[in-house]
Amino acid sequence: MSCNKSIGCSVKPCKWHSKGEDYCTLDKINVGTHESNPKQKECTDCNSFQLGM
Ligand code: SF4
Repeated sequence: MSCNKSIGCSVKPCKWHSKGEDYCTLDKINVGTHESNPKQKECTDCNSFQLGM
């Protein structure tokens, strides 16, 4: 599986994580928020996350 070196990611349980290195394998991800007024990084989410192997 080839990784996208423009998208670093450490969320290993995600289906799209490269597993070997800390990168995403998607060409593009969508980042969003679950807050109405986000003020810190914890307010943001990777909306492309899918639980995988
Ligand atoms: S989809 Fe999001 S959470 Fe999943 S590997 Fe890519 S950047 Fe990480």
